[in-house]
Amino acid sequence: MQSPSFHVQHYIGGAFVEGTRRFEIFYPATNEIIGTAPEGRAEEVDAAVQAATHAFAAWSRAGAAERRRVLKAFADAIRAHAEDLERIETWDVGRPIRENRAGYVQRLAANIEFFADFAVTHGSEAYPMDSGYINYVLRQPVGVAALITPWNVPMLQATWKIGPALAFGNTVVLKPAELTPIGAWKLAQIAHSAGLPPGVLNVVHGFGPESAGALLTQHPGVQLISFTGESTTGKIIMGAASHTLKRLSFELGGKGANIIFADADLDRAVAISLRSSFFNQGEFCLAGPRLLVERPIYDEFLQRFIAATQQLRVGDPMDPETTVGALIAPEHLQRVRSYIDIARGTQAEIVLGGDQPDLPAPFNRGNFLNPTIIVGVQPQDRVCQEEIFGPVVTVAPFDGEEEALAIANGVAYGLSAVVQTRNLGRAVRVAGAIDAGTVWINDFFVRDLRVPFGGMKQSGIGREGGHYSLEFFTEAKTVCLSNQ
Ligand code: NDP
Repeated sequence: MQSPSFHVQHYIGGAFVEGTRRFEIFYPATNEIIGTAPEGRAEEVDAAVQAATHAFAAWSRAGAAERRRVLKAFADAIRAHAEDLERIETWDVGRPIRENRAGYVQRLAANIEFFADFAVTHGSEAYPMDSGYINYVLRQPVGVAALITPWNVPMLQATWKIGPALAFGNTVVLKPAELTPIGAWKLAQIAHSAGLPPGVLNVVHGFGPESAGALLTQHPGVQLISFTGESTTGKIIMGAASHTLKRLSFELGGKGANIIFADADLDRAVAISLRSSFFNQGEFCLAGPRLLVERPIYDEFLQRFIAATQQLRVGDPMDPETTVGALIAPEHLQRVRSYIDIARGTQAEIVLGGDQPDLPAPFNRGNFLNPTIIVGVQPQDRVCQEEIFGPVVTVAPFDGEEEALAIANGVAYGLSAVVQTRNLGRAVRVAGAIDAGTVWINDFFVRDLRVPFGGMKQSGIGREGGHYSLEFFTEAKTVCLSNQ
């Protein structure tokens, strides 16, 4: 396939802007250069914040119904560009196109549309007092929102933040990850053609530290930050934002447990575990890379799980038959491989993968790694404690609920977990006791935009989704009305 050449631009105040310095964009599956993007510096970040500040007056006063009209046009335009967006996400991330064709773009549109509707129907509260006074609560937009997103599901992350931020009347400066700038630029083009007023949505590309990301988190014109990324970056942003007391919402790293009890439906457990282990090459905060299997079924499960993993097809992400794509960058591949080396240096055993596939050119130059299964691990091993963020999982046996919970909760993270059992009482008990913002029982990655999303412990601060997004993206103002 002919490589494209994307000339990515900033989007500031309704105009596509070149910027002064540019950086290269690489296709993860071949490491070929597929375009360039501008590096946002102080002038561009400042111009974007100014444009968002200027647009805030009209957008915040436009009313939820008018904003819904505009945002619905944006969502419709996203759907109309589905094929283009599916390919772009694969160029950006290296994820198999079949995963993008399984409802990904519909979800991007839904992220915008859901919150556009929600803002129309939610928000008012009134508290009449016995004295006859009436308190009512106004939900007012906060101001300019900085949305800082990671590279693993870039357009999903962007729309998940843009939707509520705009629907509740804020204006936005989006800073996508430097490794995946194309999708955000494309979304800006779509928003522009759908009639989003100038300055309501701005996109500034560039690097995180000491560049566009850091400049945004320090900018006095930004009132709130919704950030998704690594826990260590979250700590830096928290420090930077403290000087101007910005409102923060953090969705950070994860190290989910996938607990499979002996009474689970084994076929289903294998299928769910394949997805929770290797969806998006395992570069997924919600993944369940720690498989804990109750001892009576451990051997059989492991054997079936290995057999099913061997059926996965690693390679050209644009091939609709491919099920495992490329990792985002050579440095990230090295980092993921370093964990395999760490495991090799312990008592652990790599029972599948651990190496790179033998692919034809040009994919022999890509960042591919065979799905890797490690056994013989101890809960305190680094491969069981640290976020690897690749197609590398551990499988370990446990005896009983108590041990499963102790291992599951014995990490610094608490984003998500999977519990697989046919015993309803056990499912309820274990789900209730796990340290995780989201628990799936007998399934994986089913998301409802009404429910809170976020993490416990080092996995985040705050929740977004439904009225949790309303709370984060608005100020609550109480007005007390006298009856005198
Ligand atoms: P990073 O934390 O490295 O980067 C995330 C974003 O923050 C990027 O846009 C990055 O820019 C920017 N950034 C980096 N440093 C700074 C800084 N000092 N100030 C402001 N912005 C900064 O995460 P990754 O992109 O590597 O993404 C992977 C991580 O994201 C994993 O830990 C994963 O678990 C987490 N994640 C969490 C999710 C959740 O919902 N909890 C969902 C998806 C991912 P640049 O790219 O230029 O460095």
